Amino acid sequence: MPTSTKTKKAPYRTLLLKKRDELLMSAKRQPEVLSMSLQTPDAVEFAVKTAEQDVNARTANLRNQMLREIDHALERVAKGDYGVCESCGGEISPARLKAIPWARYCLVCQELRSRN
Ligand SMILES: [Zn+2]
Repeated sequence: MPTSTKTKKAPYRTLLLKKRDELLMSAKRQPEVLSMSLQTPDAVEFAVKTAEQDVNARTANLRNQMLREIDHALERVAKGDYGVCESCGGEISPARLKAIPWARYCLVCQELRSRN
């Protein structure tokens, strides 16, 4: 087991924490607008607001999903298996990790999965 690779994970941890902060900040700026549905506006306004709410809900969903991925990646950093593909066990390329620090799979496995 090469121990020298461990020190290389620190920048990714910083990246992950930074991204996590950004997501949490944006969640504060744009809170979910669930209370809107409690009002009873006319039909047109209702449709518009429902559509807006839908987009907001989807954005919130994506954000939550990304936060979960980031938390998962941070756990893997702590465990020491960060940067290893969860599917084939191969190493995820540094370029890929730089672009997507929370990537679980190497490029090959990711493509296989998205094709299915
Ligand atoms: Zn793989």
